[in-house]
Amino acid sequence: MQPDPLDFWKKYELVSSSQTYSMEKSKSKICRYCDKTDKETTFTQDTHLLPELIGENNILTFDECDKCNKLFSDYESSFSIFIRPYITLIGVKGKKKIPKFQSRTINRNEETRTTLIHKKDNQKELHIQSIDDYSLNTKDKTFDIVFRKPPFIPLKVYKTLLKIGLSLLPIKFDKFNKNSFAWLTNRQDDLTFIPQGFITSLKRRSFTEPSAYLYRAKKIFIGKEEFPEYILILCFANQIFQIFLPFSDEFKKIHFEQRQLVLNLFPAFVFDKIKMSQIVEIKAYDFSVTTSVTENHKISFSYQDAQINIPEKNS
Ligand SMILES: [Zn+2]
Repeated sequence: MQPDPLDFWKKYELVSSSQTYSMEKSKSKICRYCDKTDKETTFTQDTHLLPELIGENNILTFDECDKCNKLFSDYESSFSIFIRPYITLIGVKGKKKIPKFQSRTINRNEETRTTLIHKKDNQKELHIQSIDDYSLNTKDKTFDIVFRKPPFIPLKVYKTLLKIGLSLLPIKFDKFNKNSFAWLTNRQDDLTFIPQGFITSLKRRSFTEPSAYLYRAKKIFIGKEEFPEYILILCFANQIFQIFLPFSDEFKKIHFEQRQLVLNLFPAFVFDKIKMSQIVEIKAYDFSVTTSVTENHKISFSYQDAQINIPEKNS
């Protein structure tokens, strides 16, 4: 049976978003993430609700200490690698400029490195040195490019997203999410969470500014079904990420007892200019891996939506 994509709105309601986020503009005396006071840590950096690598933004938080900021920057380096092909392709300007994509090399041979540079007027310059990294399909007028990503840690990608989710959490709920904050800041080793995230790549639209939305289940339990309490939706470039926040302490005790966990998909197509009847490709991704991984990410282009000069395969 085809699930009803609008089910999401029946089950979840918006609790906060980057659009409505407001924090008192005074430096906190206590860090929301690690619980340390200004006697144990410092608060000198400007800290952002959304990482600037997904687009310039000026939404500042005032309750994140410098130590946590540094830790989150480390998570964000994995996140940056994970999303880089799209950041470069769409041309998302971060703090300084649009970053270029550089693939990892094969056997440390510099001559196998693919480089993609986003230039003026949306022009892309692509240097492919390994012929295995692209394939041309003249019949469909499409070509595929394989982006060989440098190593990154999937769990750190999840923690980057979790940090955004917890920042958006209304403060009155912090007391129920102590374990999530502790796990995020490595004060606690293990935490049960739903490792699957869902990623939609929009085909006809991209976001000039990043935004994030935190949804909460209207009901956690309905009959034998159980719904993850919080869902974070993050939009940037042409990407829509969905993750589930770990269950709060409030509901953990009664969790997983003969119940079936139901994962509702955010209907990301609402952002695309397409009809519901069209097929929307949503990828599931397992963020639970704690070690460094490399992956090859294939992206298909049509001749119409990219002007990239590709050398002849046998030249
Ligand atoms: Zn801190």
